[in-house]
Parts: sequence; structure tokens; C-alpha cells
Amino acid sequence: MAFDTATATAWIIRCADEVRAAEARLTALDAAIGDGDHGANLARGLAAAVSSLTDKAPDTPGGVLVAAGRGLVAKTGGASGPLYGSGLRKAGKALGDETDADAAQLGEALHAMQTGIQELGGAAEGDKTMIDALAPAVAAFREAAPDGLAQAARAAAEAAEAGVAATVPLQARKGRASYLGERSIGHEDPGAASTAIILRALAEVTA
Ligand code: ADP
Ligand code: MG
Repeated sequence: MAFDTATATAWIIRCADEVRAAEARLTALDAAIGDGDHGANLARGLAAAVSSLTDKAPDTPGGVLVAAGRGLVAKTGGASGPLYGSGLRKAGKALGDETDADAAQLGEALHAMQTGIQELGGAAEGDKTMIDALAPAVAAFREAAPDGLAQAARAAAEAAEAGVAATVPLQARKGRASYLGERSIGHEDPGAASTAIILRALAEVTA
């Protein structure tokens, strides 16, 4: 299978559904080390991303990700909206005019997303942010890309979930949670948790 327009659209819709289902959990994670708005922020932003796809349906997978990214930036509050939104736009641009991206191409697009988020937010692995889920996921995706899209996406989802668990003992060095200093230790990072949901959604729509 290829990452085509229908698959890209299904991914964004699935992200919106799964984040809405996890909204209370994400909000509780953010209440512990942030301001308790992450679930609501992202649910609202992804709903806007889905609307932007139904208003004027893009005809390439890259176009879907660019449009969804714009919708997210416009409607998501907090730090995570601009980060996810610009990351998705970068991923979409990396896909260019391709209509049927293969696993290697999607791996490069996800890498562009990671790089874009890191350039905007300045976070490195170990800072207790979404990058702690995204970076290992992108690495796993690219490594498994020769085995095909479904395998690569499954490997990425698993790596992201392991990355979330690995944020628990970390002290936050970026974002609102960093204001807590050592009190940020002992909690999952909410943005890492939402990144794992987004990659699990990709595995589900490419399975
Ligand atoms: P806010 O912190 O502004 O309320 P959200 O609650 O929506 O925004 O998102 C918080 C999440 O955003 C954090 O858990 C973290 O994963 C992510 N985040 C915050 N700052 C950065 C950053 N500079 N780089 C990468 N991710 C970040
Ligand atoms: Mg917050």
C-alpha cells in the first residue's frame, strides 16, 4: 500500500478521533506538570484540521498534511499547536506533489516534521517533550521502511510508546513543565503522550 491522499486524510481523521477519546487523559497529564489544557487544545486543533480537509479536499497526501497543519496552527492554543502544525506542514512539503508516497518517502517526511519541530521549539531528546516520543519513532520508521509502510508505522508507534514511558523519570527542560524544575520528575509528558497517539493512528490507518 501507499501513503496516498485517502490514507493521509484517514490519518488526520483518526488522530482527531483518538485525541478526542484521550482528551481527559491528556488534560490530566498536563494538569500534573503544566496548565491542564493539552487535551482540549489538541482536540480543538485537530477538529479544525479535519474541517480544513472537508472544506476543500486536497488532492495529494502532501496537500492533506499542509492543510491539516494550517488548521492546527490556526486553532490550537498553547505551545503544542504551532509545533505540531508547523511540523505537519513541513512533512507535507517534503512529500511535494507525490500522489502515492512509499515508506521511504513518508519516513523522510516524518523526519522533516521532527526537524521542523526541533527548529521551532529548540528541544533535544531528553528534554521531556514530544520530541522524546517523535525522535525514536522517526528513527524506527526509517529503519523499518524497507519492510513497507505498515511495518514501519507499527515500529514507529511502538517506539513512540516506549519514548513516552521514558519521559517519566526525566526533568523537563523545555516548555511550561520546565518551570516546575525537579517537580516535573515522575510524570509522563503530555506532548509525548499525544505524539504516541498520532503515530498509533498512523499504524492503524496503514495496517
Ligand atoms: P502549553 O504548554 O503552552 O499549555 P500544551 O499543553 O498544548 O501547551 O502542550 C504541552 C506540550 O508541548 C508539552 O508536554 C511538550 O511535549 C510540548 N512542548 C512544549 N514546549 C516544547 C518545545 N519547546 N519543544 C517541543 N515540545 C514542546
Ligand atoms: Mg498546557
